[in-house]
Amino acid sequence: MALLRHTKANMTEREALTINPAKTCQPIGAMYAALGIHGCLPHSHGSQGCCSYHRSTLTRHYKEPVMASTSAFTEGSAVFGGQANLLQAIETIFTTYDPEIIAVHTTCLSETIGDDLVQIIGKAKEEGKIPKGKRVIHASTPSYVGSHVTGFSNMVKAMVKLLAEPSDIRLRKINLIPGWVEPSDMREIKRILGVMKIDATMFPDTSGILDSPQSGKFEMFPEGGVTVAQMAKTGANCYTLALGPTTSLSAAQELESKCKIPSETIEIPIGLGATDTFVETLRRIGMVEIPKTIEEERGRLVDVMSDMHQYFYQKRVALWGDPDQLVSLTGFLCDLDMKPVYIVTGTPDPTFEARIAQAMKGRVPNAKVRQGPCSDMFLMHQWIKEEPVDLLIGNTYGKYIARDENTPFVRHGFPILDRIGHSYFPSVGYVGGLRLLEKMLDAMLDNKDRTSLEESFELVL
Ligand code: SF4
Repeated sequence: MALLRHTKANMTEREALTINPAKTCQPIGAMYAALGIHGCLPHSHGSQGCCSYHRSTLTRHYKEPVMASTSAFTEGSAVFGGQANLLQAIETIFTTYDPEIIAVHTTCLSETIGDDLVQIIGKAKEEGKIPKGKRVIHASTPSYVGSHVTGFSNMVKAMVKLLAEPSDIRLRKINLIPGWVEPSDMREIKRILGVMKIDATMFPDTSGILDSPQSGKFEMFPEGGVTVAQMAKTGANCYTLALGPTTSLSAAQELESKCKIPSETIEIPIGLGATDTFVETLRRIGMVEIPKTIEEERGRLVDVMSDMHQYFYQKRVALWGDPDQLVSLTGFLCDLDMKPVYIVTGTPDPTFEARIAQAMKGRVPNAKVRQGPCSDMFLMHQWIKEEPVDLLIGNTYGKYIARDENTPFVRHGFPILDRIGHSYFPSVGYVGGLRLLEKMLDAMLDNKDRTSLEESFELVL
């Protein structure tokens, strides 16, 4: 326990030191995005250690085997560059594993060396190492800038840049870029689109890949994911709806400038308000009526929100994680009359504070909100020591604070390494909102049951 209790309450301003970052490394996001393409093998252009770390983080979160390859840099590659390794890797991957597509991302080392992926992949093509009909795409993901969210965003943009084909035709179909959400969320977004009868190509789509059913047989490339052919046709769809500006805006803008497809970017549909905006936007774009099923789902969420309001009212909450998730969650907590007082993301995003302010609509005037370097778990813990909170919401790394401060804790976001099953239940949409509500109230009441004095302990507290 002594080891855990290392955070001092007295604050010291830091400019150059991050302690327990509220983010992880760029290529992890690039790898997750690439897994959302059907038949894709993500490839890490760097040393084996990087690739092992990225794969293991994804495997530990999703509890699924994550397939990816590496250029396996040695000291020689670090000095002379990784061209020979990547050329060899491309040839070996297509010969041995036969993917439809390889999605290469860089690492700190290959970026520092300055390897030119366009030139190397061009050379692989010239030398016939890329079989006919197969594709190799690439994204630059140096981890000394940005975070896993930046890496995800860069890879989704690369999917558009290298796979979408401009077209004069306009199909009655939209592109939907879901941002970094769980496979279950992607499945839920597709369900909502289906219920509203809106035809869409969603990319990336990790449902059916990182939550594929146990069949007793190992599938190197599970059935899910957007296909390369579908990606090519995104250039012929009539509109792009992107969810989460931090993760999806750049891909939507790329599609707009490359294929002249109008786009709009809204917040991820977590909670009542953000889901209302999502459903209303779909109604407008698709020129459809909102079906009764969706209205009923909304009604159920509102009903449960009112039932739980007595417990949530004015409760102080600390949140950490990824910008897009945090903005929508903040709005949801404010709609519940809770007070998200401390909000931290290690992902640099200059729009973050303004978006949080917009989600709060002035309802939490003294909230502390920080993004980028030094916005870390240590800072969050110090704020909590100064003035405690009633609930913590964030990834696994918050469990140290939860234990130290004896505060109820809801695991949400990425990564969740110490629990199983979270990636099978959506938190988007009205249905996802219900699950979040249940988790939050359970955590708070479990704590009350555990800590209330004997003389005031009741069946229903
Ligand atoms: S931070 Fe850089 S060196 Fe470390 S695992 Fe990520 S890519 Fe590799």
